[in-house]
Amino acid sequence: MNAANLQISSVAAKIASRCNINCSYCYIYNKGDDSYKHQPKFMSEAIYTRLFEQIRGYCNKHRLKSFTIYLFGGEPLLAGKEYVRKFLAAAEQILMPDVAPDFLIQTNGILFDQEWIDLFKEFGVIYGFSLDGNKEINDRNRVDFKGNGTYDQVVKAIKLLTEQGIRPGINSVIDVDTDALAGYQHFKDLGVGDLDYLIPDGNFYQLPKHLSNRTDHFNWTNTPYADWLISIFDVWFHEPLPKPNIRLFKVLINLILGQDVGYDYLGTRRTELLIIETDGAIEAADDFKICGNGFTKNELNILKDDLEAALNDHLIALYHTSKEQLSKQCESCSVKNICGGWYVPSRYDKDNGFDNPTVYCPDVLKLITHVQKCVIEELNKNGVETDGVEILDYNREAGLLEKYSCNF
Ligand code: SF4
Repeated sequence: MNAANLQISSVAAKIASRCNINCSYCYIYNKGDDSYKHQPKFMSEAIYTRLFEQIRGYCNKHRLKSFTIYLFGGEPLLAGKEYVRKFLAAAEQILMPDVAPDFLIQTNGILFDQEWIDLFKEFGVIYGFSLDGNKEINDRNRVDFKGNGTYDQVVKAIKLLTEQGIRPGINSVIDVDTDALAGYQHFKDLGVGDLDYLIPDGNFYQLPKHLSNRTDHFNWTNTPYADWLISIFDVWFHEPLPKPNIRLFKVLINLILGQDVGYDYLGTRRTELLIIETDGAIEAADDFKICGNGFTKNELNILKDDLEAALNDHLIALYHTSKEQLSKQCESCSVKNICGGWYVPSRYDKDNGFDNPTVYCPDVLKLITHVQKCVIEELNKNGVETDGVEILDYNREAGLLEKYSCNF
């Protein structure tokens, strides 16, 4: 892949490399990668200053007027308010007025308080929390280092916002052994605005918990993630506004309607993100850490390499172009332009790398075909012609892919 064809529009700056809680499914700390132990706990001023200078140079060269900077961890709030204020002020000072930085931060909410709200408001930072549902659901996996649940602390932070009329954004990792609808109802009760459901990281090397071996992957009736999500979709799709803005469903519907949208999970768009570790290392997405200890490591560092050169790294290039590098099965699939082969770390196997469908293929296919059917039927009910659009049947599509099971 020629780096000249690739672009960058965002970086995730890992300002803190440690976390103050210990979620069971965490791909950074609990899936076999211990490279964080060799990282400085926080990104130094010298590193982030160099990063902002590089972003400015890249944007000027490519005539970009805006650039997204994620403040990432670990838990980014561990860096403290004074640190974050200096970080944000330095970004503005170095980038503006030529480039407008968009700041986003994802926090577990444990340290969140009114002063953070004021600070984020001052710099226009968009922020979201991680919460998996009600107390019973959340505290199954989102626990501290003593195994205690974190729900109470996070919900205290969320209520601080809702009392001020702010609808919080939530990232929620799916646990298929929980009550999907109870969790969804709880998010509505909390007044959640944006809601993103995430499937836990897994692949053929580290199998998700619903698969006991890799050939299970082709058991097309074993689709707990699809079933869990569909139970929410069927409620969400038909209920009136206001309701949570569920990214997974919205993007899926828009793709089915033919719009050019997408993100790491869905669609065929390229990714334009780089990860910057606390020591300045330039890497591909953290989720690749589930592919093996040190898997994301390379020789690149912001202090000696420029951002554009990093696009020559094979893993970064794969991450950016993963929707164009599909397995034979995906190439033959009816929904490949909607699925895009799903999230690339979930395709990995030790023997043949990323030349596979996602380990969640049956779930993804079932979800997509279900949503497509609902959307087409709703359009027809409302008198919108969908001539020539065939309603896809999951069992039929699964049957067409069945022949690829011999590869497993
Ligand atoms: S549904 Fe499965 S076969 Fe189809 S594109 Fe997605 S991962 Fe590939």
